[in-house]
Amino acid sequence: MRVSVNRGRCVGSGSCALAVPEVFEQSSKDGRVVLVTETPSAELHEATEEAADFCPVSAITVTGP
Ligand code: SF4
Repeated sequence: MRVSVNRGRCVGSGSCALAVPEVFEQSSKDGRVVLVTETPSAELHEATEEAADFCPVSAITVTGP
């Protein structure tokens, strides 16, 4: 799995960082998402997929197995 985020699209809802803090953080400067890792470990894949699905502006892209 590889994760990317579109910070320009992010509206700073923070739901991804709440759901999977191992993968997503919220910037203290602009409130937008900061990617902690592009390659989450296997046990985080399901939660990362869900965070991508729940992002209100589809700013999270997940690719690969
Ligand atoms: S869920 Fe989407 S809009 Fe909300 S902080 Fe994460 S990337 Fe940004």
